[in-house]
Amino acid sequence: MTDRPRLTTTAGAPLSSNQNSKTVGRNGPVLLEDYQLIEKLAHQNRERVPERVVHAKGWGAFGTLTVTEDITRYSRAKVFAKVGGKTEMLARFSTVAGEQGAADAERDVRGFSLKFYTEEGNWDVVGNNTPVFFVADPYKFPDFIHTQKRHPRTNLRSATAMWDFWSLCPESLHQITILMSDRGIPVDPSRMNGYGSHTFSFWNDGGERFWVKFHFKTKQGHKTFTNEEAEKVIAKSRESYQEALYGMIEAGHFPKWDFFVQVMPEMEAEDFEKKTGWSAFDLTKVWPHGMYPLIKVGEFELNRNPDNYFTDIEQSAFNPSNVVPGIGFSPDKMLQGRLFSYPDAHRYRIGVHYESLEVNKPRSPVNHYNRDGSMPFGLRTNPDAYYEPNSFGGPVEDPSVEEPPHRYSGQVGRYEYRGEADHYSQPRALFEMFDDAHKERLFKTIAGAMQGVPQFIVDRQLGHFDKVHADYGAGIRRALAAQQRDDAQASLTTSHSAEAAE
Ligand code: NDP
Repeated sequence: MTDRPRLTTTAGAPLSSNQNSKTVGRNGPVLLEDYQLIEKLAHQNRERVPERVVHAKGWGAFGTLTVTEDITRYSRAKVFAKVGGKTEMLARFSTVAGEQGAADAERDVRGFSLKFYTEEGNWDVVGNNTPVFFVADPYKFPDFIHTQKRHPRTNLRSATAMWDFWSLCPESLHQITILMSDRGIPVDPSRMNGYGSHTFSFWNDGGERFWVKFHFKTKQGHKTFTNEEAEKVIAKSRESYQEALYGMIEAGHFPKWDFFVQVMPEMEAEDFEKKTGWSAFDLTKVWPHGMYPLIKVGEFELNRNPDNYFTDIEQSAFNPSNVVPGIGFSPDKMLQGRLFSYPDAHRYRIGVHYESLEVNKPRSPVNHYNRDGSMPFGLRTNPDAYYEPNSFGGPVEDPSVEEPPHRYSGQVGRYEYRGEADHYSQPRALFEMFDDAHKERLFKTIAGAMQGVPQFIVDRQLGHFDKVHADYGAGIRRALAAQQRDDAQASLTTSHSAEAAE
């Protein structure tokens, strides 16, 4: 006997051997009944999920955000509510173009994704180590990415494709300049800044809106490779970022970033465009610091390596659509495109319940009516309240977290139309067309369909029928009473015949 845990099947039964397959005699063929062997081999065939189309190669760690300044005048987000407040978080850094086996120290933009597990849901900042991007419109994104990936015929990266596209899209010049500059190859993830890149928005308790940009500045200082240095690193190791990030956290040298925002009052966006000629919502442009200085929010540190790279980093799913009350979107077109494409990529890559995985799961309560689908583990729904609206205590909306409208929302809103609409006169016109016999059949059919329904629900529905026509409600009440009499009679007859049989 040993004090080590017993090896079990995936169904939890103890396993007698993990060394020898079950054969007919010493040299005989392997039996189909060696189910555990088959399970083991089949499982191996399914060890991969599709790699990300972009940002496939990544490195990540868990950490803590600490708020050091009060910015509640801009945002009501709970994550900023208290100076000194701490929020658990996850960071994933990545290269954009390379596949999962690509070398880390390549010249490329770095993804800089943060997930804050706040008390009102997950807030994800899914940015880059650059404040801008190559294109300003989601129509261009798939084409741009094709130029970064392999040529269909040569299966090689194509400089022709890249420069062809870039030269046809001068909006890319800003990002090209950053990418080709001395900061194009950070030595490891801790030596670079991060940016939310898009313009987002804040809204405060008073319903005021501000446009906002997120900045995360490395406290380790910038350190970058020259092309020659990077070539030498890659010749020795393709995993230099993984080694560095994992190593520094294991050694207790926790990397840190200062967190700043640039804030633009809602009504200033047009002035900004008039003054500068740039839209405040153009992902290829920054807001100059001279116009919108950095405002300190806090800092974060990464202090825990994941125990399982696949479950914690490969299956981590960051969405710019994950905002929380107090943080909103902006008319930035690229942001709007990503609000669709990121969650869609995760549904495809990991599965429809990717948010229920431990790494993606909010630390705050999750209550919704999404049901079933592939592997709905962890979904705990009240069994009677599996639709909405319901009368059985299921979760309900909280209008207090509705965002205020903004300068560009125009006609966009959540309009309540049901309360104002006339739901009664058309059914009344139809009811009045029916002859008496038809009406009786209608009453009987409805009374029959209401069998077993709790009385408070029947009463609520009768109230609606009354509003259509007094005869409608009255007729159904009559039919319900007749049905009750019939049911009582039937049960009396059954008990009499049972007594007679005894
Ligand atoms: P500032 O003089 O106030 O700031 C210059 C900024 O450039 C700093 O944030 C600095 O980062 C950053 N920087 C320096 N070298 C590089 C590089 N090789 N690649 C990327 N960023 C770099 O300038 P402005 O705000 O007036 O902007 C001027 C230009 O600076 C912009 O056009 C843009 O290219 C760049 N920039 C501006 C940012 C902004 O949000 N305003 C953010 C990042 C870059 P650090 O402080 O960490 O050294």
